[in-house]
Amino acid sequence: MFGSGLEIKTPEQILLMREAGLVVADALAAVRDAVRPGITTGELDRVAEDLIRSRGATPSFLGYGVPPFPATICASVNEAVVHGIPGSQVLAEGDVVSIDCGAIVDGWHGDAAVTVAVGDVPDEVVELMRVTEEALWQGLAAARPGGRVGDISHAIEHYVRDAGDYGIVEDYTGHGIGTAMHLPPDVPNYGRAGRGPRLKRGLALAVEPMITLGAKETAVTEDDWTVVTTDGSVAAHFEHTFALTDDGVWVLTAHDGGRADLERLGVPYGGPA
Ligand code: MG
Ligand code: MG
Repeated sequence: MFGSGLEIKTPEQILLMREAGLVVADALAAVRDAVRPGITTGELDRVAEDLIRSRGATPSFLGYGVPPFPATICASVNEAVVHGIPGSQVLAEGDVVSIDCGAIVDGWHGDAAVTVAVGDVPDEVVELMRVTEEALWQGLAAARPGGRVGDISHAIEHYVRDAGDYGIVEDYTGHGIGTAMHLPPDVPNYGRAGRGPRLKRGLALAVEPMITLGAKETAVTEDDWTVVTTDGSVAAHFEHTFALTDDGVWVLTAHDGGRADLERLGVPYGGPA
């Protein structure tokens, strides 16, 4: 149903999105476990694709867009922010790699990303990853029925600005999700509370802060996909898909449904007990 231009899911449809979300969570966990110095991003891609297909699900990135994205994950290393194409790139000690992954179950999508350190990374990069992941949770915790998309955006921006001198990427945003990976509305990582489309029960969104150690500006490389910081600064990226239910926020791509972090932040967990 698209009353208001936004796709509103029934509880049964949200259960299917949870299945897709758990496949994505498991794929990301498998890739995270595989990350080590010397592995290629192409090998990580096979880990994710094997996991997704073993569960009877379909990788949503494969063949997406123009030119068609050629892989199951996006693997974005160091100054690459998002949309990196996996291949022969070898990960080295001190790198960070953002792994973004989507899966489809019965036509319903899940989408999530984590940034993983390869061995030891500098303290400022550890802190960048912490700030980016916590900004994601602050954004998720700001969502409630009757609120606005801007509440999420503002919570992310406020947390990051408070945490230090970081770049908040504006060229790419979170998004609605459901019967397609990318649906309205956009969910920017900056903005004013109380603005933007209204949040309703049955709405599902992917929230995905992209934060840099330098400036916010980005460019697309000659492969037509990889997004890099124009100043070469390191970036981090974390993403979850959530649904608003009668009870609160249900983080469909978190193994625990987001329960621990939402309770830590004092907001209602919207998944099953
Ligand atoms: Mg994603
Ligand atoms: Mg996304």
